[in-house]
Amino acid sequence: MADRVARWRAEGNDVVVVVSAMSGETNRLIALAEQCQAQPTGRELDVLLSTGEQVTTALLSMALHSRDCPAVSYTGGQVRVLTDSAHTKARIKNIDHERIQTDLGRGNVVVVAGFQGVDEHNNITTLGRGGSDTTAVALAAALKAQECQIYTDVDGVYTTDPRVVKGARRLTKITFEEMLEMASLGSKVLQIRAVEFAGKYSVPLRVLSSFDEGPGTLITLEDQSDVEAPVISGIAFTRDEAKLTVAGIPDTPGVAYRILGPISEANIEVDVIVQNVAEDNSTDLTFTVHRNDMARAAEILQNTAESLGATEVRSDDKIAKLSIVGVGMRSHAGVASKMFSALAQHNVNIQLITTSEIKISVVIDEKFLELAVRALHDAFELEQG
Ligand code: ASP
Ligand code: MG
Repeated sequence: MADRVARWRAEGNDVVVVVSAMSGETNRLIALAEQCQAQPTGRELDVLLSTGEQVTTALLSMALHSRDCPAVSYTGGQVRVLTDSAHTKARIKNIDHERIQTDLGRGNVVVVAGFQGVDEHNNITTLGRGGSDTTAVALAAALKAQECQIYTDVDGVYTTDPRVVKGARRLTKITFEEMLEMASLGSKVLQIRAVEFAGKYSVPLRVLSSFDEGPGTLITLEDQSDVEAPVISGIAFTRDEAKLTVAGIPDTPGVAYRILGPISEANIEVDVIVQNVAEDNSTDLTFTVHRNDMARAAEILQNTAESLGATEVRSDDKIAKLSIVGVGMRSHAGVASKMFSALAQHNVNIQLITTSEIKISVVIDEKFLELAVRALHDAFELEQG
């Protein structure tokens, strides 16, 4: 990393580097905390966790000095990354970038500890796991940087998981919106909050490998003039969800609320929701939740079902959700039918369907997931690009 930073600096760029902790370090610190107290307070945990990043700021600065590259290191609190007081999941409120600007003006590379800040009482806070991405984007926005480069263990964003489809291709470009959909569907290249932030402030983001040279993937605003933009950019999937159905409920106003209200009161997030009316005017309602919440959701649903006179409650955690994502969908007809036809050809039964402007998702039997992803990757010719 130091070689690259020094090179960038030598080429005449002003460089601010946001560092994360060394690999495994944050987990090691969490384990240490657990040895001392079963449930440490967020405040103390943040004092501990922030040290991982403090170590790497100093080490990177030293490595830069040894390459004759002037550099200064800062903790989040020293820069003054001001956050709210929600320990372990704080949000950035403001960044004072004056000190950084002054240092850059003097020819320094500025190395800032990611993932941390201070609240208005100067308590150390952290931003949630993976939070260095968010620090980097927020700083890039505050400094009006040309580009925010995220160095990670993959060399970019792929059309789908290369472990599932061998021909998965690295995308040269993807829009913020598409990246958000991909990230929220389980493609874990970037912290979702960082992508949201980058989109909101139009900070071009580039995902690159820490280990290999290469152009990576640029995440940016949609280019309206790009007539050759693909209809589908990628296929995302998750095995994290479970499906619940309550059958034979009355088709009257307020039923959906009576069913889903108690679920949300229990702080269980609901994803896909589908309701169907049968000929006898009774209805079925199906929805998905995180797999870890299925048992609790089923229990709540059982209670509601009894009070509604439902005929049956079913739950199934052997499902997978699979989505095709692309801004090109807005201007192309027939995308959904192409998707369904590819799945039909491979005999994959679709259990639920939902769509948004740039995404079509289906819920299928978990055991067909890989087959389905490959079929769609082929059908939309994602390998060619
Ligand atoms: N070190 C923190 C973590 O492991 C923050 C980061 O890596 O971005 O979650
Ligand atoms: Mg990390």
